[in-house]
Parts: sequence; C-alpha cells; structure tokens
Amino acid sequence: CLLSAISGVVAAQTTPLTNQEAHRRAEALLKQMTMEEKVGQLNQAAGIVIPGLATEKPDAAIAKGQVGSVLWQFDVKELNRMQHVAVEKSRLHIPLLVGFDVIHGYRTIFPVPLAMASSWDPAVEEAAQHQAAKDSRAAGIQWTFTPMVDIARDARWGRIVEGAGEDPYLGSAMAAAQVRGFQGDSIGPDSVLACVKHFAGYGAAEGGRDYDSSNIPESLFRNVYLVPFHAAEKAGAASFMSAYMDLNDVPATGNRWLLHDVLRQEWGFKGFVVSDAIAVGNLQTHGYARDPEDAAYKAFTAGVNMDMASLTYIHNLPKLVASGKVTEAELDTAVMPILEAKYRLGLFDNPYVDESKVDAQLSSPEGLALERKLAARSMVLLKNDNHTLPLSKNLKKVAVIGSLADSTKDIEGGWTVEGLFGGPGKSHPVTVLAALKDRLGANINYVPGVAPAREYPSMFDAMTGAKKLPPPTDAEVTDWIARAKAAAADSDVVVAVLGELASMSGEAASRATLDLPGMQQQMLEAVAATGKPVVLVLENGRPLDIRWAADHVPAILEAWYPGTEGGDAVADVLFGDVNPGGKLPVSWPRTAGQEPLYYNHNLTHEPEDRPSFTSRYWDLTTRPLYPFGYGLSYSTFKFANLRLSKDRINAEQTTEVEVDVTNTSTVAGDSVAQIYIHQQAGSASRPVRELKGFRRITLRPGETQTLKFSLGKEELQFWSPQTKLWDVEPGTFDVWAGEDSTASLHAELIVTK
Ligand code: BGC
Repeated sequence: CLLSAISGVVAAQTTPLTNQEAHRRAEALLKQMTMEEKVGQLNQAAGIVIPGLATEKPDAAIAKGQVGSVLWQFDVKELNRMQHVAVEKSRLHIPLLVGFDVIHGYRTIFPVPLAMASSWDPAVEEAAQHQAAKDSRAAGIQWTFTPMVDIARDARWGRIVEGAGEDPYLGSAMAAAQVRGFQGDSIGPDSVLACVKHFAGYGAAEGGRDYDSSNIPESLFRNVYLVPFHAAEKAGAASFMSAYMDLNDVPATGNRWLLHDVLRQEWGFKGFVVSDAIAVGNLQTHGYARDPEDAAYKAFTAGVNMDMASLTYIHNLPKLVASGKVTEAELDTAVMPILEAKYRLGLFDNPYVDESKVDAQLSSPEGLALERKLAARSMVLLKNDNHTLPLSKNLKKVAVIGSLADSTKDIEGGWTVEGLFGGPGKSHPVTVLAALKDRLGANINYVPGVAPAREYPSMFDAMTGAKKLPPPTDAEVTDWIARAKAAAADSDVVVAVLGELASMSGEAASRATLDLPGMQQQMLEAVAATGKPVVLVLENGRPLDIRWAADHVPAILEAWYPGTEGGDAVADVLFGDVNPGGKLPVSWPRTAGQEPLYYNHNLTHEPEDRPSFTSRYWDLTTRPLYPFGYGLSYSTFKFANLRLSKDRINAEQTTEVEVDVTNTSTVAGDSVAQIYIHQQAGSASRPVRELKGFRRITLRPGETQTLKFSLGKEELQFWSPQTKLWDVEPGTFDVWAGEDSTASLHAELIVTK
C-alpha cells in the first residue's frame, strides 16, 4: 500500500553523492531511457489544476514517464502521492523534482528580498535562505525559483520587490549568499536547488511595464545586468531560469547567444536551464516562432533544458528528434544535468516527505527568531527629526492609522505558500497593530480607513478568484478622515502604517504612478494637521512618492514587507530595542517621472558649475529624495582618514583602502561603510560612481574601527564596448568612503599599465 511504501522509504538514510558518482549513475540510467522518457524529464507540469495552466492533475503523464518535475503543489500528502506514482508506476522509477518559488521563506516568512538587501548583510540573508531550505525540503520542495537577481532601476516595475535593487555589486553579494543558503557547500539531501532568474535583463522592461521588451546595449548588459547572474553562477547555482521578455529583439527564452554562448561557453555553467512559466509556448506570441514545434526547436537549441508548464516540449520534441532536427545526443546533453541533480539531492534514495516531521520543522522557534532579527535589520530609517524616534515606552495614548497596520496578509509580502494556495501548517503573522497593543496594553486608538485596491486584478487574484472591493464612497472617506483626526487629536503620537497591499508589487504589478494608493494620503494629511507628532511606517515593495511626508512628517521608517514577525520587529525599532541600520538598495525617487533613476549613471546630473547642456529637468531636480545606500540610525557616525596602502598600482596589483569609522553618539549602533570608485576617463564613458565594497559593523558609543577593503582587478575592471574585453585600463580613479552613495571622503588612485 502507498503508506507502507512511503514509510519504508523515509526510514532510509541518505548520504551525499560526489559529482562523479551522480554523473556515473545518471549516465547508466540514461542508457536505459527511451527517447520519450528523456523528453519527459524535460517537461515540468503544474502539480495542481489551475486556470490557464492545467486542466487536470498530471498523474497519467507521470505514470508514463512524461513528467520530470512538478511545480506549485504544496499539499504534502499530494506530493507523496505523486512521487509514489513516479517511483512505483513509471517504468524507470525516476522521482519527480518538485519546484516552487520559496522566495523569502516557506512557512516562516522572512522580509521580501528588497528588504533583505536593505540589511546590507549577506550573512544574515544566507542564514535566512538556509532556514527556508530546511523548511521547504521538509515539506517536499527540492527546488526553489530563487534568487531573482534582476537589476531594477525603475520603481514602477512591480518585481523590484523580488530582487536586491539597482546595484550590481550589492546584488552580486546578495545573489551568492542566497545560493549558498539554499544549496549549502555542495548539493546534497539537505539542499534545495537554487534557480537564478530571470536570465537576463528582465528588470529593464521598457517603461517599467512587466514583460515588456528590454533594449540593453552589450556594455550595459555585461557591466550591470549580467554581473549578479555571474556571481550566482560562480557560487555554484544548479539552475537558471530564462526570462519572458525580448532582449534586444530576441526573446530571452530563445536566445542562444545568452543561454549558450554567454552562460555555458563563457561562464562554463554545468547546470540546467528552465524556461519561465509557459515562456516556450510564448515564443509564438513574441512573433519569434511560427508554431509550437518551431517554439520547441528554438528554445531547445538556444539552451533551455526544461519547459515550465507550456507542454510544448512534450508535444513537439519527439517529432523534432524523429525528423533529425534535434539529435538524440543533444537530448542526452539536456537531460543529464537534471538526472544528476536528482541523484545529488538524494531523491532516488528518499523521494518522500516524512509527514510526521513537517509541522515541527515549519514552526521552528529558531526560524522565527531569525526572522524577527532580520526584519529589524532590514528596516531603513528615512527621516527622524527632533529625535521623534525612538518612542518613549511610557506613552499613554497612541493613534494607529491605516488598514495595513492590521493586515496579516500584507505584512508577509508576496509569494507565500499560504497566501497562494494554502499548504501545510499555518503562519501567524504579527501585525504592527498587534505588536503595539502587546507593548502598550489598551491605549491604542485604531482607525484603519478603507484598504486601497488595485484598479486591475493581480495575476494571483485572477487565479484564486479574489474579488475586487469597491472604492469607498465620499461619505465613507469623510467619516474615516474625521475619525482619524479625532484619534490623532486624542493621542500623544500617531503611528501611520501606510503603503501598498502585498499584491500591489510583484509580478504583473507595475505602476504608472508611485503615489500612496487609495485614501491613505488624505488620512496622513489629516492626522498631521492636528499637530501631533506622526511616525510614518511604510509597508511596501517599492519606493513610493512620499514627498509630502518627507516635508511634513517628522519620522519615516521603511519597514518593507517585514515578514511573519514583522510587527514585533517594527515595534523593536520604534521603541529603540533595535537601533535601525538598514540602507536603501535603490535610489528613492521623488516621483515616478524621474524613473529610471539610479546612482551609477554616466553623465553628471545638474553639476553646480554648469547650468546648461547638462542632464536635468526644468520642473524638478534629477536628484533622488534619498540616495542609494542611505539610511539613518539612532547613532551618528563619522568617517575619517581615508587612505590607500599604495596610491599608484599597475593593472595586476591591488591596493588596500582603509577608513576609520567612529560612533560619535551615546548609543550603540550599526553603520554600513561603503566604498565607491570612479574611473576619470576610459575607452568608454565611465559611471560617475560605482559601489566596490561595503561592510555592516556595530560600534559602541565612542568606539572607532578601522575598516580595510581591497581594490584590484576584480573591482577596477570593466567591459569596454571598444575592446570587447574585461580590462583594467590605466588612468586615474577617484575613491570615496562614507555612509551612502553621496560619500565625500576622497582619495585618488593612479593605475599604470
Ligand atoms: C514567474 C517566475 C516564477 C514562475 C513559477 C512565473 O510567472 O515569472 O518568477 O518562478 O512563474 O512560479
């Protein structure tokens, strides 16, 4: 019977296989496989019935050996049942590889990736993804479609929330940390395979419109967009996902230059590539493939191993092999890394979930403690006039404003198993309102107002059939505003928790404006008009247009979507139990019209000494509201004595950069030291600044630490469109150290031939 089969197998012990052993076994298995079974391994099927994707469960196909992987099934009983079909009913007993987007935690939900990047602490991000790996592996997921390492320079693009922001250097550190967190030192029975996405250039979608074309010159592509992908590849990522959009007129999913020449030939990638969901079939929509057979041919020969959910491979690859357009040797090459991964994951020894252990693993107290710590570390204090924060712990009355303050659904952000389709266990997210009540007892006056709503439904709303709520009537708005004012007037301080619903950022969640949606801006202005101190806590997945707040509200804390323990983490920061130290991984625009906005552009914007023929708008500055790398603390820091061990090196040498950082305040706190460079002239125009080193440190009051960074080939080289090479070109480099991308402490480095 199924259960005894399962319990018999879960008892088996698994030990990691070496790469060679996995290869040997995969080769032996491949020899026994028919052509159809090989094609089956390249087919990923939806594990659930889902509108627009799958009309039935894939059991029959699994039994025929036509499914190598399933995605989007979380019910552990169902997963065991499907594995049983694969392992017991299919001819060669090949287990399924189960994939899902474990983006920021499985059941314990960590801050969204943009928030994790705001911690500027790759080690903590690695720890979080390691926890996520243990949890998802226990629940039967062995492959996560994470990390998303797309550079995002435009806050209108909804998926900015899923990545590490705008910078290739910070993005690379975060990408590599996540790969290590998921996979461990090498892939084994405790690992979850990482999948680096969306290869590549997806974040540069025109106008910030999701899925729209990206037109990126090769030098920008190599110097910026590809950099975090390469870092993830070097960290050993087992798989890549091809992107949806056209890259310079060739869809990324059919782009052989990208998937073969760059990824495999130049970088030596040995893993496998999966398409994004239905992207193989979509090659026709792009006007790039004539019909499904042509789409299968173009994606396969470009280098896509596995077709995610479009069924284009399973229906067409056998024909292509039969006609000789695709050779069986090419098929073998595509199948091998998938089989190897299954061996290395230990799936052949133990494909099942031990249902008795799922709950305990998913509610691990260590996971929750790590989440609270990371959530607080990810918050960015944007403004704090007159020491409004930290709040006194003896406050008598607090007004809490905004529907997000009490939304368990939104505080965890997008891509949560529970938010999508249920899954095992339950998470118990702590909202900001709950955490404040916990601390202050009954002295809270809460006025939610009406929650904002999207004009058009989100992709997931459409799948789950969620209904759009009607906007509030004028009378309702007037009533809520009056209540908010009264609550504020009757309180010592107002905490306004405003931003976006989780479904307002993420996939298919691009925006034309960056305003606070719904009636939130009106509520904010009403409570501020009472003259009571207002603390604005932002819950959101992208920078928003908060110019009004920046002018009128004394304290602003960016909490992002902080995760399961998010409310407590917000309270930790508001009351000073945790001193905030997060920094922006994106330039914060004043308004959507400034986008795309990023600090590492080529031409100096608005130079003081040159009023005309420079890059500027006549109606607004080009400068961000808050620069990349920025964030306040309850402490203050001083940077001094920037020095280079050698101020003249040749292109093969390295110089050490040293800087002294002092906590000049009376409270312990974190600073993130940042090193920027600028090559004064090169064979191509060089960016005005580029981040090339950072470190988050904790300093006691009055303490000074000397930090050391290296500048050598890795940091000084760039890919020149003239030479088409990565090179350190001789010349003069500016070096800055400081607390954000406007750092002014300066030194000069001469690089000779
Ligand atoms: C998204 C990917 C995701 C995939 C599977 C697609 O719509 O673009 O990021 O990994 O779905 O869930």
